[in-house]
Amino acid sequence: MPAFAKRMSQVRRSFIREILKVTADPSIISFAGGLPKPDLFPTGPIAAAAARVLAENGPAALQYSVTEGEPALRQWIADRYKTKRGLDIDPATILITNGSQQSLDLLGKVFLDPGDVVGVELPGYIGAIQAFSVFEPTFAGVPLGPEGPDIDRLVDVLTRQQAKMFYAVPNFQNPSGLTYSLTARRAVAEAMRVSDAIFVEDDPYGELRFMGEALPPVSAFMTQDRYLLGTFSKIAAPGLRLGWVVADPDSLPKLVTAKQASDLHCSTLVQRILVQYLADNDLDAHIATIKAAYGAQRDLMVERIKAEFPEGVQYTEPEGGMFLWVTLPEGCSAFALFDLCIKEKVAFVPGEPFFVDGSGQRTMRLNFSNAEPERIVEGIRRMGRAIEKLLETPACPAGPGA
Ligand code: PMP
Repeated sequence: MPAFAKRMSQVRRSFIREILKVTADPSIISFAGGLPKPDLFPTGPIAAAAARVLAENGPAALQYSVTEGEPALRQWIADRYKTKRGLDIDPATILITNGSQQSLDLLGKVFLDPGDVVGVELPGYIGAIQAFSVFEPTFAGVPLGPEGPDIDRLVDVLTRQQAKMFYAVPNFQNPSGLTYSLTARRAVAEAMRVSDAIFVEDDPYGELRFMGEALPPVSAFMTQDRYLLGTFSKIAAPGLRLGWVVADPDSLPKLVTAKQASDLHCSTLVQRILVQYLADNDLDAHIATIKAAYGAQRDLMVERIKAEFPEGVQYTEPEGGMFLWVTLPEGCSAFALFDLCIKEKVAFVPGEPFFVDGSGQRTMRLNFSNAEPERIVEGIRRMGRAIEKLLETPACPAGPGA
C-alpha cells in the first residue's frame, strides 16, 4: 500500500455509492439514489444546441477559456436571480464550477485549515461532509427541525466554538426534504451577521417547488460573508456538470485561483452548449414539466406511506425537491430495516451517515424523483411490510414484541 496523505484518512467513501451497488439489481425497487428522472432530460434540445454551437462557433468552442466561466452564462445566472428572486447579483461575482460539488471543494480549499470548525445541519448533505472532510475540519452539528435549524445551537457553534463556516441547504434539503421558514431564514442571517464565520448556502432544489410560496434565500438577508451555490443538475441535467457559486467579491479571486489550480476552467464546449440551449428554449416550461412529474410522485409516495406504514412512523411532507425523510419509532434501527427491506427487494438510504455526530439511527431517506409511480406503490407496500416485521423483533424495543 502506498503511503496516502494524512488528509485522506478522515474522508469516508460515499455510503450511498456503496448502497447503489446493492440496488443495481433491477428487481430491487430503489428509493436509495438521488437521481433526477432521465426521461425528463432535454436530450433533443441539447443535441440541437450542440450541433448549432459546433456548426456556428466550432473552433472557439473547442478552445481553452477563462477560469471564471463563459461571460454569457454568468450573465444568464445573474439575470435569473433578478427575475426569479429579485436579487441584484453582479455577474462578476459568479464563478462557474463543475457542479456545486466543485463549489464545495473550492470553498473548503480556500477557507478551511485542519481543525477549523464547520457547522453542518443534523442531518446534513453527505457530499458536502465528504468534500469538506478532505480539509480535516471538526464538524459541529446543528439539529434541523420542521422550521429550520436550532438557532441556539447555531449561535453556540458560531460563537463559543468559533466556527469558520456554516453550511446549509435551506430549500427541500438533501436528505430531509425540510425547508427553512422565513423566520428561520432571518434568524440564521442574524446569527451569521454577528459572527466571523462564512455562510455557505447550497440551493440545488430551490426551483423545484411543487406547492407553497417561494422564500428568499438566507443570503438575501446578508450583505457579506455569504456564498450562494447553484447548479444546472436538477433543472437541466447533472451530466453537464455545471454549477456556480456567487461569492463575496473580495474572495472571488481566491476561488478563481483555487479553480485554476484544480482544472483551469469548466469545459468551454459544454458551457457554450448550455448557453445555446438556454437561448433557444424555455427553461421555465421545462422546469414546470419536472415539477409536475416530481410533485405527482411525491403526492403518491406520501399517500402510500400514510396508507401502508404503521402508526408511530413519522415522515416529512416536502414542498419540493427530491427526497422525504422517515423516522422510525424510538429504539428502532434503520440499518436493521434495510436488511429486511433488501429481502423484500426494496431499498432506501439509512440516515445515520448524514449525521456528523453519529446519531440518526432510526432515520432514513427516500427518493421520489427517480421511481415510476407503479414502483412507488409496490415499493412502499413492501417497506410497510418490512417495518411491521421490524416492529415485531426485539431489535426494535418500541415494537409490540419488546
Ligand atoms: N448539494 C446538494 C445538497 C445536493 O443534493 C447535490 C446533488 N446530490 C449537490 C450539491 C451536487 O450537485 P452537482 O451535480 O451540482 O455537483
